Amino acid sequence: MASFKSEKINLHTHTCFCDHATGTVTDYVRSAMEAGLEVLGFTEHAPVAGDPISCNMFVRDLPAYVKAVNEAKKDFPIHIFLAGECDFEPILANYYRDELLGRYAFDYLTCSVHLYFDHDARRMCFASQSKDFTRYLRDYVARYCCALESGLFLFGCHADLFRASYLPWNEDAKAASRDIIQCAAEKGVPLEINARGLERDKVQTPDGLRYRYSTDEFFAMAAENGVKIILSSDAHDPAKVNDTAKCREMSLRLGIGPCGCTIEDGRIRI
Ligand SMILES: [Zn+2]
Ligand SMILES: [Zn+2]
Repeated sequence: MASFKSEKINLHTHTCFCDHATGTVTDYVRSAMEAGLEVLGFTEHAPVAGDPISCNMFVRDLPAYVKAVNEAKKDFPIHIFLAGECDFEPILANYYRDELLGRYAFDYLTCSVHLYFDHDARRMCFASQSKDFTRYLRDYVARYCCALESGLFLFGCHADLFRASYLPWNEDAKAASRDIIQCAAEKGVPLEINARGLERDKVQTPDGLRYRYSTDEFFAMAAENGVKIILSSDAHDPAKVNDTAKCREMSLRLGIGPCGCTIEDGRIRI
Protein backbone atom coordinates (compact mmCIF):
# COMPACT_ATOMS: atom_id res chain seq x y z
CA MET A 1 0.00 0.00 0.00
CA ALA A 2 1.33 3.44 -0.94
CA SER A 3 0.49 6.54 1.12
CA PHE A 4 0.41 10.08 -0.17
CA LYS A 5 0.33 13.29 1.83
CA SER A 6 -2.29 15.95 1.26
CA GLU A 7 0.31 18.13 -0.53
CA LYS A 8 0.83 15.44 -3.17
CA ILE A 9 -2.77 14.83 -4.22
CA ASN A 10 -5.64 16.55 -5.97
CA LEU A 11 -8.78 14.47 -6.34
CA HIS A 12 -11.14 17.10 -7.78
CA THR A 13 -10.24 18.19 -11.31
CA HIS A 14 -12.27 19.21 -14.37
CA THR A 15 -11.42 19.35 -18.08
CA CYS A 16 -12.72 20.87 -21.31
CA PHE A 17 -15.25 18.01 -21.52
CA CYS A 18 -17.70 19.98 -19.35
CA ASP A 19 -17.55 23.05 -21.65
CA HIS A 20 -17.00 25.58 -18.85
CA ALA A 21 -13.43 24.51 -18.00
CA THR A 22 -10.38 24.87 -20.25
CA GLY A 23 -7.62 22.37 -20.97
CA THR A 24 -7.42 18.74 -22.04
CA VAL A 25 -6.78 15.80 -19.76
CA THR A 26 -3.10 15.80 -20.74
CA ASP A 27 -2.81 19.55 -20.07
CA TYR A 28 -3.93 18.90 -16.49
CA VAL A 29 -1.61 15.94 -16.06
CA ARG A 30 1.40 17.92 -17.29
CA SER A 31 0.56 20.83 -15.04
CA ALA A 32 0.04 18.47 -12.08
CA MET A 33 3.46 16.90 -12.67
CA GLU A 34 5.11 20.31 -12.88
CA ALA A 35 3.43 21.22 -9.59
CA GLY A 36 4.83 18.07 -7.96
CA LEU A 37 1.54 16.20 -7.56
CA GLU A 38 1.74 12.41 -7.41
CA VAL A 39 -1.98 11.57 -7.45
CA LEU A 40 -4.49 13.24 -9.77
CA GLY A 41 -8.19 12.41 -9.85
CA PHE A 42 -10.35 13.59 -12.75
CA THR A 43 -13.84 14.38 -11.58
CA GLU A 44 -15.59 15.78 -14.60
CA HIS A 45 -19.20 16.85 -14.02
CA ALA A 46 -20.91 13.52 -14.68
CA PRO A 47 -23.51 13.49 -17.43
CA VAL A 48 -27.17 12.70 -16.90
CA ALA A 49 -29.47 11.04 -19.43
CA GLY A 50 -31.38 13.61 -21.46
CA ASP A 51 -28.74 16.29 -20.79
CA PRO A 52 -30.92 18.57 -18.64
CA ILE A 53 -29.72 22.16 -18.24
CA SER A 54 -26.79 21.96 -15.88
CA CYS A 55 -23.04 22.30 -15.62
CA ASN A 56 -22.56 18.62 -16.51
CA MET A 57 -20.81 17.17 -19.53
CA PHE A 58 -22.98 15.79 -22.34
CA VAL A 59 -23.80 12.09 -22.40
CA ARG A 60 -22.33 11.82 -25.91
CA ASP A 61 -18.91 12.95 -24.59
CA LEU A 62 -18.68 10.33 -21.84
CA PRO A 63 -16.85 7.63 -23.87
CA ALA A 64 -14.25 10.16 -25.08
CA TYR A 65 -13.69 11.41 -21.52
CA VAL A 66 -13.22 7.88 -20.23
CA LYS A 67 -10.82 7.09 -23.07
CA ALA A 68 -8.77 10.26 -22.53
CA VAL A 69 -8.31 9.60 -18.81
CA ASN A 70 -7.58 5.90 -19.31
CA GLU A 71 -4.96 6.74 -21.94
CA ALA A 72 -3.35 9.28 -19.62
CA LYS A 73 -3.09 6.54 -16.98
CA LYS A 74 -0.87 4.60 -19.38
CA ASP A 75 1.07 7.56 -20.72
CA PHE A 76 2.17 9.36 -17.54
CA PRO A 77 4.17 8.21 -14.53
CA ILE A 78 1.81 9.58 -11.83
CA HIS A 79 -1.27 7.98 -10.30
CA ILE A 80 -4.29 9.03 -12.33
CA PHE A 81 -7.88 8.17 -11.46
CA LEU A 82 -11.02 8.19 -13.58
CA ALA A 83 -13.81 9.75 -11.56
CA GLY A 84 -16.87 11.96 -11.79
CA GLU A 85 -18.54 14.68 -9.78
CA CYS A 86 -22.21 13.75 -9.55
CA ASP A 87 -24.79 16.46 -9.06
CA PHE A 88 -26.76 14.22 -6.77
CA GLU A 89 -30.37 13.23 -7.28
CA PRO A 90 -31.62 10.12 -5.46
CA ILE A 91 -33.30 8.95 -8.65
CA LEU A 92 -29.89 8.84 -10.37
CA ALA A 93 -28.13 6.66 -7.79
CA ASN A 94 -28.56 3.50 -9.87
CA TYR A 95 -27.17 5.25 -12.93
CA TYR A 96 -24.09 6.38 -11.03
CA ARG A 97 -23.54 2.87 -9.69
CA ASP A 98 -24.37 0.76 -12.75
CA GLU A 99 -23.15 2.99 -15.57
CA LEU A 100 -20.30 5.05 -14.14
CA LEU A 101 -18.85 2.71 -11.52
CA GLY A 102 -20.05 -0.40 -13.37
CA ARG A 103 -20.00 -0.19 -17.14
CA TYR A 104 -17.40 2.57 -17.46
CA ALA A 105 -15.33 1.33 -14.50
CA PHE A 106 -14.88 4.72 -12.85
CA ASP A 107 -12.37 4.52 -9.98
CA TYR A 108 -14.49 6.69 -7.72
CA LEU A 109 -17.28 9.25 -7.62
CA THR A 110 -17.78 12.45 -5.67
CA CYS A 111 -21.05 14.17 -4.88
CA SER A 112 -22.26 17.74 -4.93
CA VAL A 113 -25.54 19.61 -5.13
CA HIS A 114 -25.51 22.56 -7.54
CA LEU A 115 -29.08 22.57 -8.75
CA TYR A 116 -32.53 22.80 -7.29
CA PHE A 117 -35.96 22.91 -8.84
CA ASP A 118 -37.47 26.37 -8.80
CA HIS A 119 -41.22 25.79 -8.61
CA ASP A 120 -42.01 29.39 -9.62
CA ALA A 121 -39.80 29.39 -12.69
CA ARG A 122 -40.60 25.69 -13.32
CA ARG A 123 -37.01 24.88 -14.12
CA MET A 124 -33.77 23.77 -12.58
CA CYS A 125 -31.65 26.63 -11.26
CA PHE A 126 -28.16 26.90 -9.92
CA ALA A 127 -28.17 27.29 -6.17
CA SER A 128 -25.97 30.35 -6.41
CA GLN A 129 -28.49 32.16 -8.62
CA SER A 130 -31.36 31.97 -6.17
CA LYS A 131 -32.61 35.23 -4.69
CA ASP A 132 -34.37 33.65 -1.76
CA PHE A 133 -32.86 30.33 -0.84
CA THR A 134 -34.74 29.88 2.44
CA ARG A 135 -37.28 27.53 0.92
CA TYR A 136 -34.62 25.36 -0.69
CA LEU A 137 -32.34 24.98 2.30
CA ARG A 138 -33.94 21.79 3.60
CA ASP A 139 -34.07 20.34 0.11
CA TYR A 140 -30.34 20.98 -0.29
CA VAL A 141 -29.59 19.29 3.04
CA ALA A 142 -31.84 16.30 2.28
CA ARG A 143 -30.18 15.71 -1.09
CA TYR A 144 -26.68 16.15 0.24
CA CYS A 145 -27.31 13.75 3.13
CA CYS A 146 -28.91 11.24 0.80
CA ALA A 147 -25.74 11.37 -1.31
CA LEU A 148 -23.52 10.81 1.74
CA GLU A 149 -25.70 7.91 2.87
CA SER A 150 -25.70 6.23 -0.54
CA GLY A 151 -22.22 4.80 -0.04
CA LEU A 152 -21.34 5.73 -3.63
CA PHE A 153 -18.99 8.61 -2.98
CA LEU A 154 -15.34 8.86 -1.98
CA PHE A 155 -15.89 12.36 -0.61
CA GLY A 156 -18.35 15.22 -0.69
CA CYS A 157 -17.60 18.35 -2.74
CA HIS A 158 -18.19 21.86 -1.40
CA ALA A 159 -20.80 20.70 1.11
CA ASP A 160 -21.38 24.28 2.29
CA LEU A 161 -22.24 25.59 -1.19
CA PHE A 162 -25.70 26.41 0.18
CA ARG A 163 -24.05 29.27 2.06
CA ALA A 164 -23.44 31.05 -1.27
CA SER A 165 -27.20 31.47 -1.46
CA TYR A 166 -28.28 31.38 2.17
CA LEU A 167 -26.28 34.15 3.74
CA PRO A 168 -26.98 34.41 7.50
CA TRP A 169 -25.24 32.15 9.99
CA ASN A 170 -28.43 31.72 11.99
CA GLU A 171 -30.07 28.72 13.67
CA ASP A 172 -31.33 27.37 10.33
CA ALA A 173 -27.89 27.60 8.73
CA LYS A 174 -26.31 25.95 11.76
CA ALA A 175 -28.90 23.17 11.75
CA ALA A 176 -28.37 22.59 8.02
CA SER A 177 -24.61 22.43 8.54
CA ARG A 178 -24.97 20.13 11.55
CA ASP A 179 -27.19 17.70 9.63
CA ILE A 180 -24.72 17.40 6.74
CA ILE A 181 -21.72 17.17 9.05
CA GLN A 182 -23.23 14.56 11.35
CA CYS A 183 -24.19 12.51 8.34
CA ALA A 184 -20.64 12.72 6.96
CA ALA A 185 -19.23 11.78 10.37
CA GLU A 186 -21.58 8.80 10.78
CA LYS A 187 -20.95 7.48 7.29
CA GLY A 188 -17.22 8.24 7.39
CA VAL A 189 -17.36 10.29 4.19
CA PRO A 190 -14.71 13.02 4.04
CA LEU A 191 -15.69 16.56 3.10
CA GLU A 192 -13.65 18.93 1.00
CA ILE A 193 -12.35 22.46 1.52
CA ASN A 194 -12.72 23.71 -2.03
CA ALA A 195 -10.24 26.21 -3.44
CA ARG A 196 -12.77 27.81 -5.78
CA GLY A 197 -14.79 29.02 -2.83
CA LEU A 198 -11.74 30.89 -1.57
CA GLU A 199 -10.89 32.31 -4.97
CA ARG A 200 -14.05 34.28 -5.61
CA ASP A 201 -15.06 37.66 -4.20
CA LYS A 202 -16.32 37.68 -0.67
CA VAL A 203 -19.98 38.38 -0.08
CA GLN A 204 -21.56 40.79 2.40
CA THR A 205 -23.75 38.93 4.90
CA PRO A 206 -25.66 39.94 8.05
CA ASP A 207 -22.65 38.64 9.99
CA GLY A 208 -20.02 40.51 7.93
CA LEU A 209 -17.92 39.80 4.86
CA ARG A 210 -17.11 36.16 4.13
CA TYR A 211 -16.38 33.70 1.35
CA ARG A 212 -19.41 32.32 -0.42
CA TYR A 213 -18.43 28.74 0.36
CA SER A 214 -15.51 26.94 1.97
CA THR A 215 -16.48 28.86 5.10
CA ASP A 216 -14.75 28.86 8.48
CA GLU A 217 -17.94 28.27 10.48
CA PHE A 218 -18.88 25.16 8.53
CA PHE A 219 -15.44 23.53 8.57
CA ALA A 220 -14.78 24.41 12.20
CA MET A 221 -17.99 22.49 12.99
CA ALA A 222 -16.93 19.63 10.69
CA ALA A 223 -13.56 19.37 12.44
CA GLU A 224 -15.22 19.42 15.88
CA ASN A 225 -17.39 16.50 14.80
CA GLY A 226 -14.44 14.44 13.62
CA VAL A 227 -15.17 14.61 9.90
CA LYS A 228 -12.15 13.83 7.72
CA ILE A 229 -11.24 16.81 5.58
CA ILE A 230 -9.42 16.96 2.28
CA LEU A 231 -8.29 19.94 0.23
CA SER A 232 -9.03 20.21 -3.49
CA SER A 233 -8.41 22.71 -6.20
CA ASP A 234 -11.60 21.88 -8.17
CA ALA A 235 -9.44 23.08 -11.06
CA HIS A 236 -11.19 24.33 -14.19
CA ASP A 237 -7.89 25.60 -15.61
CA PRO A 238 -4.70 23.51 -15.88
CA ALA A 239 -2.65 26.30 -14.29
CA LYS A 240 -4.72 25.92 -11.12
CA VAL A 241 -4.53 22.16 -10.75
CA ASN A 242 -2.64 22.42 -7.45
CA ASP A 243 -3.95 25.80 -6.35
CA THR A 244 -4.74 24.90 -2.75
CA ALA A 245 -2.58 27.40 -0.82
CA LYS A 246 -5.61 29.23 0.59
CA CYS A 247 -7.24 25.93 1.59
CA ARG A 248 -4.05 25.06 3.49
CA GLU A 249 -4.02 28.42 5.26
CA MET A 250 -7.63 27.89 6.23
CA SER A 251 -7.08 24.34 7.50
CA LEU A 252 -4.07 25.54 9.52
CA ARG A 253 -6.11 28.38 11.02
CA LEU A 254 -8.87 25.95 12.02
CA GLY A 255 -6.45 23.35 13.38
CA ILE A 256 -7.44 20.80 10.73
CA GLY A 257 -4.89 18.24 9.57
CA PRO A 258 -6.01 17.58 5.98
CA CYS A 259 -6.09 13.97 4.80
CA GLY A 260 -3.88 12.43 2.17
CA CYS A 261 -4.77 9.14 0.51
CA THR A 262 -3.63 5.56 0.14
CA ILE A 263 -3.56 3.42 -2.98
CA GLU A 264 -3.69 -0.34 -2.80
CA ASP A 265 -4.25 -2.63 -5.80
CA GLY A 266 -5.31 0.41 -7.81
CA ARG A 267 -7.97 1.37 -5.27
CA ILE A 268 -7.84 4.79 -3.69
CA ARG A 269 -8.89 5.55 -0.11
CA ILE A 270 -8.88 8.73 1.92
ZN1 LIG B 1 -17.49 23.11 -12.95
ZN1 LIG C 1 -16.10 20.42 -9.26
